[in-house]
This record gives sequence, structure tokens and C-alpha cells, in this order.
Amino acid sequence: MEYSFCPKCGGSLNACRVKTSEPKRLVCIVCNFIFYLDPKVAAAAIFTVNSKIPLLQRSIEPSYGKWVFPGGFVDRGENVEDAAIRETKEECHLKVQLLSLLNVYSYSGNPTILVVYAAEVTGGKLEVGDESLDVQLFSPTEIPWNKLAFPSTKEALRDYIDKIVTPRNTSKFPNEDNKTKIGNDRK
Ligand SMILES: [Zn+2]
Repeated sequence: MEYSFCPKCGGSLNACRVKTSEPKRLVCIVCNFIFYLDPKVAAAAIFTVNSKIPLLQRSIEPSYGKWVFPGGFVDRGENVEDAAIRETKEECHLKVQLLSLLNVYSYSGNPTILVVYAAEVTGGKLEVGDESLDVQLFSPTEIPWNKLAFPSTKEALRDYIDKIVTPRNTSKFPNEDNKTKIGNDRK
């Protein structure tokens, strides 16, 4: 159990079956507060720079030293698309415009739900941010499949290559013609 005490009154939490069809909940033995443990939503963006996919090498646990596309947790009350754009700016200093929802990734027993967008770069300069050791560009054949940070990293990159890269035959991407286009209606 991750939590022992009630956030409202400090009483002990007990795992109880509140509804028969649902998992056990943490219930305060003093005030009956039900402590619902909600999923965590994360947002990320995959895009290309010079026809290659930038991946960041994580400098924090979990998955220290492994590779992942830019992304992070959505703040409470934050628009999910805004979070993907914000995280990309923070983690690799690029401004992106989202093109389409790639997919949503979730796993049984894992609290994180990851929403991944296909995006294009509209500005900024590719640099490594605070949470990474390095940033490198990978063509689809160079992706370090056995050194990716999470199962969702592998699945989303496969989806991106299958749905976005392969249909366009890898040689040209929508952002290649208008690299100087700056500005994003959302920000
Ligand atoms: Zn309580």
C-alpha cells in the first residue's frame, strides 16, 4: 500500500471493497474518506528533424540512460495537447505544432496513461534539457529498440514509423518545406 494515513484527518487507511465490481479502495477508519488513487496522464510528441526522430537519453530514474521521445505528466487542469507542446519545449527546446493523435498507451497494473501526438517542428533549436543526458537523431533503422525507456516508447515509435513515416516513404516530411514557419495558435 502506498499510503497509510487519511489526507483529510490523519486517520489510518484500510483497504476495503466499497463496490463489489470495483477494486479495493483505501478508506479512512475515522472519517470514512475514500482515497481514490487515480491514473496519471502523460503527454508526448514524436516528430522529425532533418527526417530523423529526436530521442532523449534520460538522466533520471526510472529508466536512467534509456532513450525516449519528449513528454511528461499533464498538470491538473492543463490541456493535454498543451502539455505535449510544453514538455517538448522544456525537454529539447523545440517548438512544435501537433498534427494528429498517434495513439493512447496504457498497461494493466501501470498507473500511467500516455497520450502521444505526431507533431512537426515550428521553431527553436534542438538542445538537451534538464532531464536528459543527451539528445540524438535516429532514422527509423537506427532506433535503439533494446535501449528504449518504456514499453510505450517502443509501441509509439513503431506506430509512428508505421503510420506516419512509412506511408510517406521516409524521404520527405511535411515540415521539411517550411522550416521557417514560426508561431502556433495555441501559444
Ligand atoms: Zn479521515
